Formats: sequence, structure tokens, C-alpha cells
Amino acid sequence: MKPTLLKMLFVLLAGVLLAPGAAAKKLNVVTSTTDMAALAQEVGGDKISVESLAKGYQDPHFVEAKPSFLLKLRHADLLISVGLQLEIGWLPPLITQCGNGRIQPGAGGYLDASQFAQILDIPTGPISRALGDVHPLGNPHYWLDPDNGRRIAKGIAAKLSEMDPADQAYFQQRLADFEKRLSEAEKRWEAQMAPFRGRKIVTYHNSWPNFAHHYGLDVVGYVEPRPGIPPTPGHTFQLIQMMKRENVKVLIMEPYFDSKTPNSIGAATGAKVLVLMPSVGGDKASTDYFKLFDYDIGLLTQAFNATK
Ligand SMILES: [Zn+2]
Repeated sequence: MKPTLLKMLFVLLAGVLLAPGAAAKKLNVVTSTTDMAALAQEVGGDKISVESLAKGYQDPHFVEAKPSFLLKLRHADLLISVGLQLEIGWLPPLITQCGNGRIQPGAGGYLDASQFAQILDIPTGPISRALGDVHPLGNPHYWLDPDNGRRIAKGIAAKLSEMDPADQAYFQQRLADFEKRLSEAEKRWEAQMAPFRGRKIVTYHNSWPNFAHHYGLDVVGYVEPRPGIPPTPGHTFQLIQMMKRENVKVLIMEPYFDSKTPNSIGAATGAKVLVLMPSVGGDKASTDYFKLFDYDIGLLTQAFNATK
């Protein structure tokens, strides 16, 4: 009798203790980058907890893996990656080692967001990482086009609804609200950028093709000889000649590169060197997906206005 009674008491107690916890259980979402976390947060609201492995000021190609990443991945219900080999240098071994079957590629808790986005620079010839090109499958910096932000958010909302069907209406409502706010913001950004369509720019890394495509900017060169390859004197010399010839007055660089070469190019050509944020959280002002564009477009239009 006694063990049975104890068992009954335990079941009763467990029910009381676990029930509220079970009702409040949030999907545990881990993302490779802050941009995916920001978009997941927009649609997931308070039904998910979300954390990015990389910080917004880090080069997403080369993130230093920390032991804490393994712990986060071990407890994740869903992992959202940028894909297109952006994270190939650091994320795949962590996924393998974390021992969490739910988030392995091909499993229900693994979401490669590139499938939802418009991808530029897809190679037409044989795929090769020869010469160190870090964009062998197409350009992975696709989140810097607000239309892609909308597409990614929609894809994440579908995945969250699949994993947590009871909250489907909530996710769809959050998505609709995000789309509405994004459309309003896009009108504002479009108006700010419209006078500068056709402007020629040079960027350090090829991080901005989707942004440039969306706003009609013409990226005519890069400080890197190829994506992922540091500047060389020969390439820099040719770039300076080209920028003079083409009258390029704005050079965009990402916060995680050395400013020495960009500054010397700026001095030789009269171009303004601008540090723009390629990711949410790259600086204190860019706290969400909207503020990221506010920040970049604010600085860029200022620079365009100051140069002809
Ligand atoms: Zn890149």
C-alpha cells in the first residue's frame, strides 16, 4: 500500500508542479546571426526565446566558437542559419558536436533561411572555392534587402507554426503586424534613397549586393580582391585608378575590417569612408531590423548629400 500511495502523491505533486511550466513553455530558438534572431523575434514574440550565437559586430564568416555555443545548441528546439556557406568556417562542427538530434541539417528543428530569400551572384560556372572566395554558392548577405526580410519572416512564421501549432494564429498575427510596419518603413527608406539611384559606390567586402539592388546603387568595386581575401597593393592601386576614373565618392566598409586600406583609398580619391552596419546589434543604435536600415540609410544619404 505504502509505495502505491507515495507514487500517487508523486504523480499528483508532479502534475501540480509541471502544469504551469508546461503551459508557459517557449520554443527555444538559436540563430547563427543577430539578423535572423531579430526576424525570429518579430514573429515569435513572447512565445519563443531567441538568442544569436554571433554578435552583430562580428564578421559572420569567421566567428570564434565558444564552449557556451555548444550548450546553447544542445538545448535548442530550432536553429536558424543564414546558409549559403556563410557559417561554414565555424557552425557545422558545433552542430555535429552538440549532440542535439533535433537541429541537425535535415531534421525538423533546422531552418536554412536562404531558401526563402532572393539570392544574388549565384555562380553559373563550376563551383569552386579557388582563390579563397567565401561566396561559392551565391551571396549570403541577402538579409540587407527589406523584401528579403519580409520573405524570411514569413518562412520563420511558417516553421514556428509547424513546431507550435497551438500558437499559429499568434505567429500569423505577429507576421502581419511586422509586414505592415515594414511596408511603412520601406516607404520612408525609399523616399530617402530615391535621389541617389545610380550612384556608384565601392564596398570593402561584397556584403551589400542585395541592399544596392534594392535601392538602385551601382557597386563598381571592392577593397578585397575577392570575397574573403585581404587587400593587396596591386589591387588597391587599380581600385584607386578606377574610382578616380568613375568618380566614386563613397566607400562602404564593415565595422570588423581594418580601416587602414580604406582610409588610404579615401585619401587618394577624395571618397568618403563610411562604416555601415551589416547586422543588427553592430552598434548600440541598430537594436532591431528596422533600426539597422534607419542607421545605414541615415549615414549613407548624409554621405551622398555631402559628395557629388
Ligand atoms: Zn561575405
